[in-house]
Amino acid sequence: MAQIIDGKSIASEIRAGLKEDVTRLLQSGHRRPGLAVILVGENPASQAYVGSKVKACEEIGFYSSSDRLSADVPEEVLLNRIKDLNSDPLIDGILVQMPLPGHISEKKVIETIDYRKDVDGFHPVNAGKLVIGEPCFAPCTPAGILVLLEKSGNLPSGKHVVVVGRSNIVGKPVANLLIQKTRSANATVTICHTGTQNLSRFTRQADILIAAAGKPESITADMIQDGAVLIDVGINRVPDPNSKTGYRLTGDIDFAGCEPKCAAITPVPGGVGPMTIAMLMKNTFLSATGKIFY
Ligand code: NAD
Repeated sequence: MAQIIDGKSIASEIRAGLKEDVTRLLQSGHRRPGLAVILVGENPASQAYVGSKVKACEEIGFYSSSDRLSADVPEEVLLNRIKDLNSDPLIDGILVQMPLPGHISEKKVIETIDYRKDVDGFHPVNAGKLVIGEPCFAPCTPAGILVLLEKSGNLPSGKHVVVVGRSNIVGKPVANLLIQKTRSANATVTICHTGTQNLSRFTRQADILIAAAGKPESITADMIQDGAVLIDVGINRVPDPNSKTGYRLTGDIDFAGCEPKCAAITPVPGGVGPMTIAMLMKNTFLSATGKIFY
C-alpha cells in the first residue's frame, strides 16, 4: 500500500505553529504581521482562494486587508493601490490574485509589488535570487512541495526528480528549488514540457515525479516506475454527473491506477493544495519579522 501524503494535516501543523509564533511575536511587543489581498473581478475559483487566504489570516492572528475591484478597473488604479500598499507600514505581504482580466498586464502588476512584500515570490528579483540560491520569497506551491517531501520522509537529496510543467509559478521554481545544495533539496532534476518528445521515457526514470501540467489524470501507471514518489500539483475540474455541482476535482495523476504501483502519492484534493496557503502565511510571517531581506 502506498503512503498517502496528507497535505491537509501537514499544512494545519504549519498553521498551528505560525499561530503560536504570532502569539509570541505580539507578546514581544511586535505588531501583527499583515497581508493585503487584492481580487479583481468575480471569477468564482479566485473568490474562493481569496476567501481561504483571508480566513487563514484570521485563524493565525494576522492583520489582513482585502480589496475587491471590479473586472473593468483601470490598470492604473490597481497599480496605484499596490503602490499605496508598498508603503503601508501595517502590510508585510501583498498578493494580487491571478488570473487578471485581459486589459491588465500581470507582468506590470508583479513588477509593481515591492519585492520585499512579494510573498507570492513572483517578482523577478525573487525569481532571480531563487535561481542563484540567495534568501528570497520562494513561490508558495513549490515551497510547499519541498516541505511535503521532507515531512513525509521522502527527501529528494540524491534522487532523480522529474517535473512535468515549466510555468513560472510551479514548474520552473520547483525545479530551481530542488537543485539547490540544501538539506531539503539537492536533487537531480529533469523538466518536461509541451516540447518534450516521448514524455513517458522521462517520467519512467523518476524517483520523484512532480506533475504540474494541468492535464487531468494524464500520468498513468504505465508512465511511472515501481516505488516512485508522486506529487500531484494539478487541480482540474472534470464533469461528473454523480456530483451535485456537476463536476469533481481531479489531479494530473491517475490516482487509482498509480497508487498500487508507487511508494507514496499526494491526493487531490488534500495534497499540495493546502500547502500553498500555509506557505503564503509563512512567507508573510518571515516578511514581518525581517527574516528574509533585512
Ligand atoms: P500552466 O498552464 O501555466 O503550465 C502548464 C505547464 O505544463 C506548461 O509549462 C506546459 O509546457 C506543460 N504541459 C502541458 N501539457 C503538457 C503535456 N501534455 N506534456 C508535457 N508538459 C505539458 O499551469 P500551472 O499554473 O503551472 O498549473 C499547473 C496545474 O497545477 C494546474 O492544474 C493548476 O490548476 C495547478 N496548480 C495547483 C496549485 C496548488 O496550489 N495545488 C497551484 C498552482 C497551480
